[in-house]
Amino acid sequence: MSIKSNIKKLLNSVPSEVKVVAVSKFHSTDEIMEAYDEGQRIFGESRVQELVQKNEVLPKDIEWHFIGGLQRNKVKQIAPFISLIHSVDSVRLMREIEKQAVANNRTISCLLQIHVAEEDTKAGFTPDECLKFMSDGIWKECTHVKFKGIMGMATFTDDANKVRSEFQELRQLFDKVKSDYFANDSNFKEISMGMTGDYPTAIEEGSTMIRVGTLIFGER
Ligand SMILES: *Cc1c(COP(=O)(O)O)cnc(C)c1O
Repeated sequence: MSIKSNIKKLLNSVPSEVKVVAVSKFHSTDEIMEAYDEGQRIFGESRVQELVQKNEVLPKDIEWHFIGGLQRNKVKQIAPFISLIHSVDSVRLMREIEKQAVANNRTISCLLQIHVAEEDTKAGFTPDECLKFMSDGIWKECTHVKFKGIMGMATFTDDANKVRSEFQELRQLFDKVKSDYFANDSNFKEISMGMTGDYPTAIEEGSTMIRVGTLIFGER
């Protein structure tokens, strides 16, 4: 299978209102261009250095999403061009994004990363920490950080019921944050969940944005 046919098949199988982030980490710019030539414009990367290098040489109408752990001292490098940061999980990171957004005279869109999976290695606020982050209200001071929704990952397991219930947990948290803090903000609408192994379930449970790498580009 080629990247072109993989992406075509995926886009044809996903409801048109669900955004597809093509996760291109560890894949070459040539491989990215194969997906680009099929019309794909949203790409996700998880390492700052790799993303910066790719951004320099690839077409300017690509919408880059940052999907991994983000060190504060590296925010500066992506702040001029990043479209969406999926991985905000601390006040300190948010404040740094605010600072660099101001320095670049732009607003940076972000998602709150939520930890619902079993693995400790996965990052993010627990749902309770997220609610505390919201009620503390420091985020309201960061007027150049625009929260558009939440992001999460399910446990890597064959237990389909567990994966589904974690996606439901993310959806319920989204609904609560939306109704408590963003009821009048139509931009707060994204639930970024679902990867190669579990995106059909994620879509059934309300995902608006799936992050798919392996299914498009093959094994890393
Ligand atoms: C790598 C990665 C993905 C894509 O994973 P695949 O299983 O290759 O689809 C999605 N989300 C995050 C946060 C990732 O790090």
